[in-house]
Amino acid sequence: MKNTVREIPKIELHCHLDGSVSLAYIQAQAEEQNIAIDIDKISADAQCQSLVEYLVCFDEILKVMQTEKSLVDSVVDVVSQAHHDGIKYIELRFAPKLHLDKGLSVLEVISAAVQGAIKAEATYPVVVRLLVCGMKHHSNEENIEVFQHILEHPSLQEYVVGVDLAGGEDDNTMPEFADSITFAKAHQLNLTLHAGECGCNKNVYDAIKLGARRVGHGVSSIKDAQLLETLKTEDVLLEICPCSNLQTKAIQHISEIDIPLLKKLDVPFLINTDNRGVTQTNLVQEYLLLLDNQLLTLEDIPVINKRALKYAFVEPEIKSQLIETYFKS
Ligand SMILES: [Zn+2]
Repeated sequence: MKNTVREIPKIELHCHLDGSVSLAYIQAQAEEQNIAIDIDKISADAQCQSLVEYLVCFDEILKVMQTEKSLVDSVVDVVSQAHHDGIKYIELRFAPKLHLDKGLSVLEVISAAVQGAIKAEATYPVVVRLLVCGMKHHSNEENIEVFQHILEHPSLQEYVVGVDLAGGEDDNTMPEFADSITFAKAHQLNLTLHAGECGCNKNVYDAIKLGARRVGHGVSSIKDAQLLETLKTEDVLLEICPCSNLQTKAIQHISEIDIPLLKKLDVPFLINTDNRGVTQTNLVQEYLLLLDNQLLTLEDIPVINKRALKYAFVEPEIKSQLIETYFKS
C-alpha cells in the first residue's frame, strides 16, 4: 500500500521549510556551523498539548538556518523528501524574519531560498515554488516590509508566488492583521492564510472575507455547515494537515477530518504535511492514515490532487504542463 500511495503523482501546498528539514540536515548543519542542538527539542511528540507547545520546536531548528548556504541546503533537503513522497509540485513556505540572527537581510534570505528552489529543481523532477510568511507575533509594519521585498524585486517573483500569515491565533487575529493582508491583496500577491487551526471559525470567515484563496488548516470549519458552504461558494481551498492537527490538539481524533463530508459538499481541499520534521511525518504517511481510517479511498488521491492544482499559485503554463504530464486522466 505504501508504495502504491507513493507512486501516485501528488502535489503539496502547505509545507513549512523550517519545520520540514530532516534530522540528517539539522545534524550536518550543526556540525558544519559548530552549533549545539538539543535533538530532543526538534520534534513534537504525542504528549504535545497545544499549538504553542508545538511551535517551540522551531526555535531549536532555526539556530542552524541563519546562513545563506544553510537556507539553500534546506530547500534541497525538503524537496528531496517531497520527491521521495511522489510529489511533482510543492509550495514551500518560510518567514524571512526568522532567519536574520546572523546578519542576513530579508532580501538575502528570500534570495537564498530562491537559489535553493532552483538547485532543487535541477536535482529532482519536482516543480518548486515559495511562499513568504508574515508572522502573527510580528507587527503589520514588519510583515508589510517583508511583502514589499517581493514587489520590489521582480526577479524573485518567478519562484515566490504568494504570501501567508503564520503563527498562533486567537479570535482577533485577522482584524489585527488586516493591514498586512490588505496590502498583499492590493498588490496582487496570491494569498493563503493560516486560520481555524485552533478552533477559531471566525478567523476562517475573516480570511475568506479578506481575500484568501486558500486557508491553512481551517480544520475547525469542518464542523460548521454554513462555513463549509461559504468555502464552496467562494471557491476557497482548505489545506488540511492531519498529523499536525492531531499533535497540536486542533483535533482529538483523525475522524474529525471528515473527508466524506467535504467530498459530499464538494468543498475543495488538499492533504499536506505542514511540518515533516517537527511532526515526524511525510505525505505518504498522511494519506495512509486517512486510508486506514476509511476517510479516503486510493481512487480519491489522484482526483483530490488534480483538483487542488487549480488552487496552486504557480503560473498557468506550468500548471498545464503538470496536468498534461501527471494528472491527465
Ligand atoms: Zn502551517
